[in-house]
Amino acid sequence: MVTKNSNPYWIKFLGTAGARFVMIKQLRASGGLWLKSGDTNILIDPGPGSIVRCAASRPKLDPAILNAVILTHRHLDHANDVNVMIEGMTEGGSNKRGVVFAPADALGADTVILKHAQGYVGKIEALEPQKSYRAGDFVFETTPALRHPCQTYGLKFVMNNTRVALLTDTEYFPELIDYFQSDCLIINVVFLEPRCGVQHLSFHDVREIVKRVAPKRVILTHFGMTMLKAHPHELARALSWETGVAVEAATDGMTVVF
Ligand SMILES: [Zn+2]
Ligand SMILES: [Zn+2]
Repeated sequence: MVTKNSNPYWIKFLGTAGARFVMIKQLRASGGLWLKSGDTNILIDPGPGSIVRCAASRPKLDPAILNAVILTHRHLDHANDVNVMIEGMTEGGSNKRGVVFAPADALGADTVILKHAQGYVGKIEALEPQKSYRAGDFVFETTPALRHPCQTYGLKFVMNNTRVALLTDTEYFPELIDYFQSDCLIINVVFLEPRCGVQHLSFHDVREIVKRVAPKRVILTHFGMTMLKAHPHELARALSWETGVAVEAATDGMTVVF
């Protein structure tokens, strides 16, 4: 029998918290996504507690086997644990290896990566819009820049013939529909209702995106307080009925196998 973690293509949600209060109060965990693609292991957006969620995973996730860490943007809920994960990936700096990908404004004068940790990794690469990158056997592409208070890119990649897209933090704009064409779309949905002047997606925006992209599968994550109070799994079920798309709400520790 094949157990889920021996399957070579999966994504594990090490956290589903979005926005400040759900993260600060740890109402949901904020460890990002661990992605396994064949022999390659990638960590995306290691927010606060990522290292703890790795150690608490069953089976344990060992940062020493990571090939890369990817930051979609520099915000704390996406980047807080990048330094400790670099220490893990490089075995405390004794094994110079791995790649860190992040937008240029996460790597400049006000970099989120400590100086000593910069020297530990094999390579640090600045992400640019609509470019293709490789780590191990894993290839991913950035979308054009999203609309968020810092440089932010969505990610697109193929998992076992499934086109997966990660729609990270952004405000809604119509071009998102083109940018995120995919079979499986992971969406960061922070608010239940749109909030003027705050560059995050609301569930209202997500309804529009799901209808117009029409992927086979949608996974909602990165929930703020208003989403949590409205019960994400119930919202997901209602949206599935409405659109005919398989929509589910991620939970901490959930693994999606491809
Ligand atoms: Zn966020
Ligand atoms: Zn953000």
